[in-house]
Amino acid sequence: QFEKSKQLQQLPKQFFASLVAKVNAITAQGHDVINLGQGNPDQPTPGHIVKSLQAAAKKTINHKYSPFRGHPYLKDAAAAFYEREYGVKLDPNSEIAILFGGKAGLVELPQCLLNPGDTILVPDPGYPDYLSGVVLAKAEIERMPLKEENAFLPDYEAIHKDVLDKAKMMFLNYPNNPTGASATKEFFTETVSYAKKHSICVVHDFAYGAIGFDGKKPVSFLEVEGAKDVGIEIYTLSKTYNMAGWRVGFAVGNKSVIEALELFQDHLYVSLFPAIQEAAATALLDSQECVAELVKVYEGRRNVFIEGLRALGWEVKAPEASFFAWLKIPAGFTSESFADHLLTHAHVAVAAGNGFGEFGEGYVRVGLLTSEERLGEAVERIRKLNLF
Ligand code: PLP
Repeated sequence: QFEKSKQLQQLPKQFFASLVAKVNAITAQGHDVINLGQGNPDQPTPGHIVKSLQAAAKKTINHKYSPFRGHPYLKDAAAAFYEREYGVKLDPNSEIAILFGGKAGLVELPQCLLNPGDTILVPDPGYPDYLSGVVLAKAEIERMPLKEENAFLPDYEAIHKDVLDKAKMMFLNYPNNPTGASATKEFFTETVSYAKKHSICVVHDFAYGAIGFDGKKPVSFLEVEGAKDVGIEIYTLSKTYNMAGWRVGFAVGNKSVIEALELFQDHLYVSLFPAIQEAAATALLDSQECVAELVKVYEGRRNVFIEGLRALGWEVKAPEASFFAWLKIPAGFTSESFADHLLTHAHVAVAAGNGFGEFGEGYVRVGLLTSEERLGEAVERIRKLNLF
């Protein structure tokens, strides 16, 4: 009977709650739902990482509090990872913060950097959790539309001068959830000079950094000269190594932002279970064969699904990266009515695009998070609806 604080009541509704409820209702009726709605990786964590955790969990030293700001061996591993993968040199002592998954960092950062009344630029459509930290910081949200005609990149020219005067921070995310778009080095170069000019801190969410198709490796924001002067990148092990349940990631880049983040976290947690930190270091340092395999699996699924839909006459764009397909819906539907139609009549669950922001209307997001066979079955069920 205790009332929730006003701040808590203002937080956006958890996006997937209603989708989960709908899927559960259809499943309870005895139907076999192919759930492509959520973004939960379906494959197990590679065995050598699990083994590393098992060994580390047996060491009693790992049963104690770890250093508040994370173990040096994990920060060293993250630095080695960035140098090996992106040619980016990082100082483990001042340019890396360990996170309880990317989400924690993304929600913490607005509270670290923004004062009430400041403005933050947020991509729309975008990952819904970008908004949570902004509400807690009592900051203002300015949405940057991601439109298909701009390859789902924001148009900085379109942002009004009055907004820029108050803008202190910006979220970006490439490979992009939900559109599956990639960014180029040229776009990040433009971003760095824009951010410098307007004194904006860029937070680039690189959650899908490992998943690029057609032989194209996604670009890290830090690969661009001057990026560290204007921002940071958030990396998570959730998708790269199928470790979503482990809750481990890190932030890299600008020293003052890393310092703010670590100071904030000092008041929230002692760092992660040390055995998880050891296993995370193993993931980052050992053979990356498992990552190459993962990309191959997602690319195969993408090809089966996209080619299947095209064969039905549905004009769809193939994602360049990430594990999402962003599909323009047929005429006569809204995003929500189309998602409901697929769920009710084909027992295929997808996420309505408007859940990712107003510019997501007209699309649905499909997670390529089941086998090629099940994706083929989803296409077959959609075919039977005779929509095209
Ligand atoms: N950023 C994006 C764009 C995501 O899609 C997700 C997870 O779905 C995350 C961040 C958070 O990942 P985690 O908190 O598991 O590191």
